[in-house]
Amino acid sequence: MLDVLEKQEMICSNLSVSPEGHLLFAGVDTLELAEKYGTPLYLMDEQRIRERCRTYLTAAADAFHGKAKILYASKAASFKRIYEIMKEEGMGTDVVSGGEIYTAVKAGFPMQNAFFHSNNKTDADIAYAMDNGVGYFVADNIEELDAVEAEAARRGTVQQVLLRLTPGIDPHTYAAVATGKVDSKFGQAIETGQADGFTRYALSLPHVKLAGFHCHVGSQVFDSDVYLRASDVMLSFIADMRQKYGYVPELLDLGGGYGVRYIAAQPTIDIAANIRSVAAHMERKAAALDMELPTVCFEPGRSIVADAGLTLYTAGTVKRIPGFKTYVSVDGGMTDNARYALYGSPYTLYNAGKMNEPADMICSVVGRCCESGDIIQENVPMPSCTGRGSIIACLTTGAYHYSMASNYNRIPRPPIVMVNDGDTYLAVKRETFADVASLDV
Ligand SMILES: *Cc1c(COP(=O)(O)O)cnc(C)c1O
Repeated sequence: MLDVLEKQEMICSNLSVSPEGHLLFAGVDTLELAEKYGTPLYLMDEQRIRERCRTYLTAAADAFHGKAKILYASKAASFKRIYEIMKEEGMGTDVVSGGEIYTAVKAGFPMQNAFFHSNNKTDADIAYAMDNGVGYFVADNIEELDAVEAEAARRGTVQQVLLRLTPGIDPHTYAAVATGKVDSKFGQAIETGQADGFTRYALSLPHVKLAGFHCHVGSQVFDSDVYLRASDVMLSFIADMRQKYGYVPELLDLGGGYGVRYIAAQPTIDIAANIRSVAAHMERKAAALDMELPTVCFEPGRSIVADAGLTLYTAGTVKRIPGFKTYVSVDGGMTDNARYALYGSPYTLYNAGKMNEPADMICSVVGRCCESGDIIQENVPMPSCTGRGSIIACLTTGAYHYSMASNYNRIPRPPIVMVNDGDTYLAVKRETFADVASLDV
């Protein structure tokens, strides 16, 4: 298990309860926010996002003696305001599509600090990223390197590139988010020799400057040795490349993946302590291999924004099926939270106006979509007074919720309201029916 912080009473320290039993988020009454902005509603705690960035930045700068970069993996939550915050905090960013690049550019994000991922960049994506001055491409495979080389040659430029490698580590997380194993759609495996060939090929290209190597073992990781083992494999590979090709990388990117606390049974990871232990481990390994550590990059997504987010719903029908179970339906669902349907992810839910009532009823909280799999969570304790009009809070929804939201059933996506020092402001507007139908010709 990774180093963890002491358990708190609520699953996250930005949550509390008012004397009248209302759930407070970043100190603000969630019932008032539901009233003011309507539901379903995504809330995000700006100070929490900034604190998480600073934790990473400070810990990594200390532990790696200034030779570290922190890149926010923006697929976790991509909208203009978040790139502005990342820019202000001095973070780099990961982007995985033209749409994320477009949004970052609109926010004025310095694109030389952007790293362009994905396992299948189209020619149009590559050209668009170069048009917008994306600093680094993370190439997944040789075909992609060829396409980057061709586009850079056409422009008479040299593109900085990292190579995505798979270190052969199983992070023991959900299969759908484990990406560092040899059998993965991402990257080139070290074990099979493909990573070696990939490196040799990259070094031969005149319009590609090989800046270093990248790996990302998975997401929602709680095992401490995952990063230590991954860094061992990567450093040994670097030593091998130095010996074979005389190549010394500038950057070694270890990806993202630190787990977050969705339910009380999960711990809160102490990010700073873990970065320190990864750094100490890597320094020993580098010394043993007689090499200097490259600049080390981390790419946190979930652990920057997950517990900075919360979703509010209004309950509708409460259906009691005698001898079976009770369903509490809410005015959102898999359209704003796809994660239970995708991964069976656990969540903590509350009746946000009845925090002082005993949670004496077990129910399934379900969405409003025409799909039986449209479930937010099963076996949730709720007060039995929960009924039509109750405000239901689903915690820890800052990562992979808005960014995975859909318009299934032509349901408009909720707005994002930022909470900052007791004030609130809109970062993303609520979609209207007209927005949803706006592209129909
Ligand atoms: C998704 C992803 C991340 C972020 O992962 P988290 O679990 O959200 O921290 C980082 N790097 C790459 C390449 C990714 O695909």
